[in-house]
Amino acid sequence: MPLFVVGTPIGNLEDLSFRAVRILKEADYVLCEDTRITRTLLAHYELKTPTVSYHQHSGLSRTDQIVSWLKEGKSLALVSDAGTPGISDPGAALVELVRNECGDEVKIESVPGPSALATAISIAGVGCERFLFLGFLPHKKGRQTMLKQIIASEYPAVVYESKHRVLKLLNELIVLGENFQVTICRELTKKFESVYHGSPSELLALFDADALMGKGEFVVIIRKEKKKK
Ligand code: SAM
Repeated sequence: MPLFVVGTPIGNLEDLSFRAVRILKEADYVLCEDTRITRTLLAHYELKTPTVSYHQHSGLSRTDQIVSWLKEGKSLALVSDAGTPGISDPGAALVELVRNECGDEVKIESVPGPSALATAISIAGVGCERFLFLGFLPHKKGRQTMLKQIIASEYPAVVYESKHRVLKLLNELIVLGENFQVTICRELTKKFESVYHGSPSELLALFDADALMGKGEFVVIIRKEKKKK
């Protein structure tokens, strides 16, 4: 039986496909980052499939167990806390491990669903036909290198940010001194979904004025303002 890689909602629990519901129902186990988060989703759809945690700190005994379940023919559904497993979350490591350990013996099947990346781009309205996706910027080592990549890129850069880091990023962009235009997509698909556009200093001023703006989850799109001819 395959390992199903299942996209799940990034906030609004209604955003789960009919196929995803069926796969989650039929699987022997749902492998999840945080069992509490996934159980909330499963309960919303009245699904009783047992959950098993799989995250970045899962040890060898857990991965060995997953590989032997798959080789025995069990059907497993891999989900992350939100969105598409493998995009800036531990899903990628498990898929690589299963591909290496099981080869053709186990099929890895996609069950696509939401992703914060695609959702942000779909409503940002800032011309992201091509873009550079950098996931989470490193906190320390390597951060400056990535900021340089953003400056050098001819395409808009898209990053994931936590609420603590979004202000830091805006300040760094001000220091870099390029003419950046930034779009911040906050709390996508949730009650307080919002999209803000502006220069880094305009957005910092907005953050100062509105404490709510600094709460939640963020996708940030950074592009250099085109030089006027
Ligand atoms: N795999 C996920 C995906 O496909 O979008 C991303 C997982 S990553 C660990 C979590 C990050 O995605 C958050 O820190 C935030 O930057 C972004 N994110 C997730 N849900 C979001 C939402 N509802 N609104 C804005 N950003 C979100």
